[in-house]
Parts: sequence; structure tokens; C-alpha cells
Amino acid sequence: MNLGLGMDSQNDRQKLMDNALMGLEIGISAMIAILFLISPITEEVFAAASILIVLFCIIVSFKLFISNRDRDLKNMIKGLMSSLTIWMVVILIEVFFTSHFNIQYLMPVSEILMLAGYLPLIYYVHRLLIDNRDRFDGRLDRKIIPGYLFLILVILYYASSNIIPVKISYFDTLLLISYLIAGIIFLALSTKALLGRLEYRIKYFLVILTVFIFLNFLGDALNLIEVLRAVDTGGLPATFYSLGILYLTLSLLVFSFNNRNTSLIDDMSKKLNDTQRFTRDLMSQSPDAVSIFNNDGSMVSVNDSFLRIYNVTRHEVEGKYNLFTDWKALGLSSGSQAESLKKGNILALERCKPGIGKFKGGDFYSSLKIFPTYDSDGRMSGYVGISMDLSNNVGLESDIRCAHDKLRDEYERKLEFTGIAAQELKAPLTPILGCLDRVRSEIKDESQRQYLDIIERNAYRQKNIIDRMVELSRLDNGKISVRYDDVDPCGLANAILGNYSTYKRTTVNEIPSGTIIRTDKEKLHNILDNMISNAMKYSYDGSKVSIGLYEQGPEYIFSVSDTGRGIHPSDLERIFERFYIVDANNDKRECGRIGLGLALVKGYVQLLGGRVWLESTPGEGSTFYFSIPKHNDF
Ligand code: ADP
Repeated sequence: MNLGLGMDSQNDRQKLMDNALMGLEIGISAMIAILFLISPITEEVFAAASILIVLFCIIVSFKLFISNRDRDLKNMIKGLMSSLTIWMVVILIEVFFTSHFNIQYLMPVSEILMLAGYLPLIYYVHRLLIDNRDRFDGRLDRKIIPGYLFLILVILYYASSNIIPVKISYFDTLLLISYLIAGIIFLALSTKALLGRLEYRIKYFLVILTVFIFLNFLGDALNLIEVLRAVDTGGLPATFYSLGILYLTLSLLVFSFNNRNTSLIDDMSKKLNDTQRFTRDLMSQSPDAVSIFNNDGSMVSVNDSFLRIYNVTRHEVEGKYNLFTDWKALGLSSGSQAESLKKGNILALERCKPGIGKFKGGDFYSSLKIFPTYDSDGRMSGYVGISMDLSNNVGLESDIRCAHDKLRDEYERKLEFTGIAAQELKAPLTPILGCLDRVRSEIKDESQRQYLDIIERNAYRQKNIIDRMVELSRLDNGKISVRYDDVDPCGLANAILGNYSTYKRTTVNEIPSGTIIRTDKEKLHNILDNMISNAMKYSYDGSKVSIGLYEQGPEYIFSVSDTGRGIHPSDLERIFERFYIVDANNDKRECGRIGLGLALVKGYVQLLGGRVWLESTPGEGSTFYFSIPKHNDF
């Protein structure tokens, strides 16, 4: 599974690099071959071939470096590449620069460089030992170090007793001894590393390096013998050096070939591991219960959430349940449901009653989804079940239902109480209002009549409030029914406006005459009356009050506008609430305001199946709108 984005482009880049390096390898090999075909092979031709071989080794090493991920191996390769680069420079200096330019001091420089070439290798083996400290037996040092120290002492002793200064300078002798000592240090470190518990490929690479350095060491040792004892070795040291580099080249090629295969397998197994890890994490982190069934329907594995939700142990379920025989325990309602999965169907049950673990016999519920999985050939490979514990939800649901029932009962009781209370409050008012006219005819005194006016005004106000409360409570109780009629809205508006002729307002009825709509006439009257009454009350002498009607889709839209005082935006939202009065403290009493008119309007409009809203600008006026659905059944 390719889980990382950009992985493909990374692979492409790697392939491109591989091809480029392979091209270089082929080119260099061809050049080496051509050089060896030249006859006679002069020292320069031989040197050029050596340089090309070293370059070849560097390129193969570089290829290994980029294709490996192991940090230790990468470090070792880095060490080899650095050493080889230094030695390549040494050959260049020795063969070309010194002979061509005849610069004397270049020779010692190149010899010191040769010694420096050992350092990267020594450094990285040393680092390998430090980084993997826990993989080595510390007691080994006591055997290896004295052994190699002894070897160094032998060399030093041998050299000091055999110097023939005529043949070689002290400086050169010292250098030769240093080469040998550097070689011994490397060999000592690599021996220790090879005895540790390192990964196979690192050991393999170390063996290559060790044999290569050992061959060089032999060459150096023979060289020392040759110069100190004036023995003619017949060019044996050079043979060892050539053997060393040849061995290195071939071994690196074999290693890189093996590495190609192992890194391919490594890559694949890493991807497989990643996929497995991803699936495992996904499964274990899922809050839902996940169960995996094989192709025969046997439950092979479940996640931790499954164990927690069903309150079971792994041992109790894995391998114990089968999708096709234990369908009931798993929450399916019939065997055919399970069978339908075999046809590739997905099963989704919103609420089922499984019989596993804590669900056994209990009144618990879960949701369940089971779907088939397929292998890369498209064959069904098993089934995955995902379930969620709903028992809490079911409990919560019944709690909410219970609370809702309680609230509804209480609300209905309150409605009933309001209705009864309003009726009871209204009852004594009727005889009071009835008596008022008789009392008025009997009272002659003007001041007493004024008192009577106050009583009358307040009694009517009280009656008005109670009437509205009764009406609202009937609306709430659903006791008001709708009686459809063919209504002439223009005539209705004119009649209502006529009732307000005492108000000094310019009234405009913009409802097209002749329009007939089907609705409840009484309710429409009440709505318009409330709105027009407000338009009159909350505007000034000379203000304009207009009524309009237009059709919009399936609705009639009525509007009642005035050029009165308007309503502040902050009051717009609450204006239809019961007993809500704008600027209540100022002029409540004077206008006889009670804040129930618009609440009633809203109730009526909703009863007729419409909506109500308004637009207003303080100081400029308001427009109230309401809609009435069209009824085409006449
Ligand atoms: P009431 O008129 O009895 O106070 P309403 O429910 O009819 O009660 O109105 C609520 C409040 O809305 C009123 O008190 C008034 O402040 C405001 N209001 C209603 N209609 C208008 C209007 N056309 N212009 C300005 N204010 C209005």
C-alpha cells in the first residue's frame, strides 16, 4: 500500500539516478578495458587504469549509499568513499603531477595523504562500535588490543634494527611504519566489530573492507621488508596492492547486486509491515467494535473496543463465533441476512440485539454493519463487522421521551389553568359593564360621572386583556378551527379602515378590488385589524397608512405600512412575543398597550399556514407582512 504521497515521484528519481550511475559504471569499465588493450602498458597507462578502477569503486559505493537506509551501513560506505577519494587524489599526484611538473615537495604531500586515507575508514568503524556498544562483548578488547599492540611492537622492533639509511630516508621509513600501524588499527577495530552481534549486511561489508585493508597491509609489510632488508621481492607489494583494489571492485559489485535484491525484499516487507501496522492501528484506535471473519465466517480477530463494548475476553470470542451459524448471537435477525453477505451484499442494521458478552439476555442494543472484503484477485477473502453500542443511546432516548411527556402534561395543565383563570376573571366583568349604563343615567354629578368613566375605561381594558388571553389560550390548546370562505380582502380592509376614521391618517387601500381569496374571514379580519390598529396607534396625525396585497408563488402576501415612529432593530426579534412592549416604561398606560396583539397575529397567521415578519426604520415607519397560502380548491 502506498501510504505516502509523492512516493512514486521519489521512486522515479531513484530509478533515474540508478540508470545514470549504471551508465557511468559501463563507461568507466569500457575505458579500463581500452586502457589495458594499449600496448605497451606504460606506467602512466597503468596509473590511469588504477584511477579509473578507484573511480569505479567510488561510483558503486555511491550507488550502495543511496539505495540503503541502514544508518550504520551508510556510515561505513561513507568512510570507504572518502578513503577511496583521497587515495585517488594520491595516485593523481604521484603519477601525473610529480612527473610532469617535477615539483619535489608534492611527493611527501601525497605520501602523507595516503596515510590520511586510512582515517575515514578508521573513524567510521570506530563510530560503528560506539553506536552499537551494547552489541559487543567488552571483554574482547582485552584479547584483541594486546594482540595487535604486540604486532605493532614487532614491526617497530624489526624496523629499528634494520634501517639501511642509504636505501631509504628516515621519513619514508616512518611513513611506511605509519601505514602499517594505521592498517593494524583498522584491522583491530574491524575484528572487534566482526565478533559483535551486527546485522548480516554490515558484517558482509566489513569483511570486504577488512580483506581489502589486509591485502594493502601485506603490500606495505612487504615494502618495508624490501626497503629495510634490501630484499628484492620482485614487485610483490605492487601485486598485493593491485589484488586489493581488484578484490574490492569485484566484492563491491557482488555486494551491490545482492543488495539490490535484498533492498527490494526489504522495501516490500517494509511496505507490508507499514500496511499491517496501519491496519492494526486503525483497528485498535477505532472507538467502534471491529470484528474480522474469515471466508468461512469464523470470527478470527476483534479489536480492543469490541472487548470493552461487549465486556468479553479475546479468548471467549476469537474462533468461537461463526457469522453463518451464530447469526442470532451476532445480532442478525435471520440466517438469510448472513447468507446474503456471501453474494457480496453489505448488511447495515440500525438497531439490533446481539447476544454476546454483556449483551447476553440483556436489553441492550447496537448498530451493526458487515461487509465483505476482497483479495487482490477480486475473490472474497472474509468479512468485517463494525458495531456501535447503542444501549446508552436507547437509555437516553427513553429518558428524553419521559421528560418530554412530563413537560407536555405540565404544559397542558398550565394551558387549561390559563383558560379557566381567564374565564373566571371575565365572569364578574360582564355584570359590571352591564350595570354601568344604568348607573350613568342615575348619576347627575359631573365629577362622579368622571369617576364612572375611569371605571368604565379600565373595565373595558380588563375585558380586552382577558379576551385576548382567552383567545391565545384557545389557540395554544388547538381549540380554534379554521373555516374557509371566499373572502374579498379589499372590502375587508376598507371596512376595518372605516372603524379608524377618527384617526387623522391618510389611508390607502392598495389591494386590487375584485380579488377573492380563500381563507378564514374572521381570522384574516383579526390579523388586519390588529396590524391596522397598531399602524394608527404608533403613527402621528397626517401619517400615511397603506394596505397592500400581492401574489408570490404559492402565497398571497399582505402588507400593512405606516409612516409612524418605527421600531428599533433591537426590538424586531421580540416584537411578536407575548406581553412584549417596546419602550414599555414610557407610554404603556396612555395608549392602552398590553403587548398581546402581535402575539395573537402570529398565532392566527400560523393557524392559517402562513408566516409573519416586518421591516422598520425608526422615525420613518414600519411595514408588517404576512403570508396566506393559496387554496385553489374553489
Ligand atoms: P400592543 O399594541 O397592545 O402594545 P402589540 O403586540 O400589538 O401590543 O405590539 C407590541 C409592541 O410593538 C407595541 O407595544 C409597539 O411598541 C410595537 N408596535 C407594534 N406595531 C407597531 C407599529 N406599527 N409601529 C411602531 N411600533 C409598533
